[in-house]
Amino acid sequence: MGPVSPSECLFCRIAGRGIETAVLYEDERAMGFRDINPKAPVHLLVIPKEHIESLLACGEEQKGILGHLLWVANRLADAENLARDGYRVVLNVGTYGGQTVPHLHVHLLGGRSFGWPPG
Ligand code: AMP
Ligand code: ZN
Repeated sequence: MGPVSPSECLFCRIAGRGIETAVLYEDERAMGFRDINPKAPVHLLVIPKEHIESLLACGEEQKGILGHLLWVANRLADAENLARDGYRVVLNVGTYGGQTVPHLHVHLLGGRSFGWPPG
């Protein structure tokens, strides 16, 4: 997983509306949409519009957007009626973390219960 230029980055292209995607949430900094290969009845992704490779690439300057992404995830969870039963938020980071798209994204999963620890 090497460095990717924003024009080649899948999630940058989604953020720039270069790829047709049903957007569930959007503001000036973030976007939320359904995962194309859902792992649960509800599986959404929340991304920053700015290209940030992963949580590992986040420093002091990114503290604001990191909080914002979690805030958006919680809003979407509420909108998807996940508040009563709960849900899971996941950040896959790097190779061992299972990250396949090198643009920071928060997974919001719900609609069933999840095991712990993850596989
Ligand atoms: P990760 O494995 O944590 O990097 O997550 C990347 C996620 O992006 C996977 O769950 C994929 O199913 C999802 N994904 C890949 N391409 C698309 C797409 N075009 N639209 C929505 N989700 C996608
Ligand atoms: Zn990107």
